[in-house]
Amino acid sequence: MRLFPSDRYPLPLPDGHRFPAAKYALLRRRLEAHAAAGAAFEFVEPHAATDDELVRVHDRAYVGRVLSGRLSREEVRRIGFPWSPELVARSLRSTGAAVDAAAAALADGVAASLAGGTHHAGTDWGEGYCVFNDTAVAAREMQARAAVRRVLILDCDVHQGNGTAQIFTGDDSVFTMSIHGARNFPLRKHPGSLDVGLDDGTGDEAYLAALAAALRESFTRARADLVLYIAGADPYAGDRLGRLAVTKQGLAERDRLVLETAARSGLPVAIVCGGGYCEDLESIVDIHAATMLRAAETAR
Ligand SMILES: [Zn+2]
Repeated sequence: MRLFPSDRYPLPLPDGHRFPAAKYALLRRRLEAHAAAGAAFEFVEPHAATDDELVRVHDRAYVGRVLSGRLSREEVRRIGFPWSPELVARSLRSTGAAVDAAAAALADGVAASLAGGTHHAGTDWGEGYCVFNDTAVAAREMQARAAVRRVLILDCDVHQGNGTAQIFTGDDSVFTMSIHGARNFPLRKHPGSLDVGLDDGTGDEAYLAALAAALRESFTRARADLVLYIAGADPYAGDRLGRLAVTKQGLAERDRLVLETAARSGLPVAIVCGGGYCEDLESIVDIHAATMLRAAETAR
């Protein structure tokens, strides 16, 4: 299973910034240790997303402002990261990683970006730690290469995928499912193809029942050739921002449901990480690593 890490392009953040950027390198190292112990992982440097790839999704003027550092103060505030050349390099690589993972999944059945899930970025804005929308760019790029006709984006980050929903409004070829905390960020939720809003404090049983129903409906309606899976670690009970109460075991069961449903439909799956804001970085790494190990098993 090919894994595309972006952590060699670090996010320079001011001291005390709330975003746990260190988790990405920890995840890569954890998975390298699994590979050394026999897990079937191959680590591949992602390409930097190209202008052509970006403007299939994003407004050309917005892309230009990001690349040249001419975002307004309000645009930077909305993204939540200070602008820097390193932020640009990182955003291009993590977006490229999703494209590469999608292409690898089409060849191998499954693959993953070890970052991304930047689902709050819309056509002409970034938001909530998202600069470019990686799964949207990957979906459109696979369509542009005529590798697929229809794509299913399964967004299991705890926050609603408002940017993805906005980008694909009126585009029936990409089905966007989001299962998220109803009262969580973003407050204004752009409706996607299927939205499942959960109450604060939702635990394993209710979460998994809602997910199973959403998967049945999504796979039926999407008629997709490729699944892009945002495997957020933030529905976890210990997450600072999640407001749900799903356990690590529950998240492992979520991964099993998604991956087995895709496998039964014979669909390739490209995974991106999504959010994770647990104080304890090792817990975030546990959750993402479990997803990757399960995916590698399913692929065999
Ligand atoms: Zn999130």
